[in-house]
Amino acid sequence: MRNVYLDWAATGPIDLSGLRVLHDTAVENYGNPSSLHNPGNRAFTELEKARALLARCFDCRPHELFFTSGATEANNILVFSLLKRALVLKKDFSAYNVIVSAIEHASVWEPVHTLKKFGFKVKVVQPDEEGVIRPQALGKLLDKQTALVLVMLVNNETGVIQPVEDLVRCVRNFSARTGKNILFHCDIVQAACKIPFSLQGVGVDAASISAHKLGGLKGIGALYLRRSRDMDVLYTGGGQEKGIRPGTENVAGIAGFAALADRRQNELQKNLKQAEAIMNFLISELKSIPHARIFPSGRSVAWGGRYSPFIINIAFPPLPGEVAVRMLNEHNIYVSTGSACHSRKKDRTRVLESMGIPRPLAECAIRISLGPDTDFEDISYFIAVAAREFKTL
Ligand code: PLP
Repeated sequence: MRNVYLDWAATGPIDLSGLRVLHDTAVENYGNPSSLHNPGNRAFTELEKARALLARCFDCRPHELFFTSGATEANNILVFSLLKRALVLKKDFSAYNVIVSAIEHASVWEPVHTLKKFGFKVKVVQPDEEGVIRPQALGKLLDKQTALVLVMLVNNETGVIQPVEDLVRCVRNFSARTGKNILFHCDIVQAACKIPFSLQGVGVDAASISAHKLGGLKGIGALYLRRSRDMDVLYTGGGQEKGIRPGTENVAGIAGFAALADRRQNELQKNLKQAEAIMNFLISELKSIPHARIFPSGRSVAWGGRYSPFIINIAFPPLPGEVAVRMLNEHNIYVSTGSACHSRKKDRTRVLESMGIPRPLAECAIRISLGPDTDFEDISYFIAVAAREFKTL
């Protein structure tokens, strides 16, 4: 039986070229980058080389990148810096409004809702039925107390690309009118090295990235901050990463991350075209299964600049997504019910429900996500199994 891994948005196998860089760096540059002796200096040089390479990949400046233990930590640092700021300034927490999109990953959604428990005002901006956060919807929620806006670039469950550049423009126009400084944070985990974009181009103030979504080691990531001096971080310690994320850096993991990001960025157009062809094949083959559904229902193309061709959300109602995942697993086909972080949680239908999909239907959803190793045969096998196993339901 084939093994068909279609859960690359959750994670993927470590890429051997990145692993080689990681291994060599760990062996040869074992020093602590904060130490003043030669091994320390060599580790520091490696760290800064990696930072410069990543900055080139994402079109920002090296000093704007801060290494973290992944995107979850990057998102948490960013959100909780607002709490620290309010504490330091001894301000009334309700004077800091946060606007968060309803489709955010749990690592943004949960910290923001923790702020709410402290008394911050949190407003949720809803997507339309196509899963898109519109500038008009965001504009209605902005007010003079808004301190932070969080909208991701590629949704990890549906693959829908958000118009972040337009959303940032909407916030900047509001700031220009009112003189209110608002921070815009964007989770770019599912976009990084997969679809073309530039951090300078989209104009966000902050962004989070994760290495293992690119074939890197788990537990490595980065926070991009355009103005780090505005941050009040809850962590304290040895002052590494300019105090944004104190703790000895994982130099080897970071070097592997940078090498991989560089490679994936160079291969971006080739990988994008390959994913587009395979995803278009999946979309057309799904039509042969009468009750197969795609979320959002208006999606008929893999890419078109509107969707990540690496992610699609589908369902075979009335089959619950969890049952579909287990049945496919029996055939060595590995998919997920939306986000891996949600698969064991009760609010796992939040994103689809925010798009107007009724809960019973949203509970049938499964996410298929492609990676560099996915081929047409994988999809044919998946379709054959789905058509056979799910047709009588
Ligand atoms: N943000 C998005 C959109 C994700 O898909 C994920 C991972 O599933 C994360 C954040 C969390 O990343 P990490 O595993 O590096 O903490």
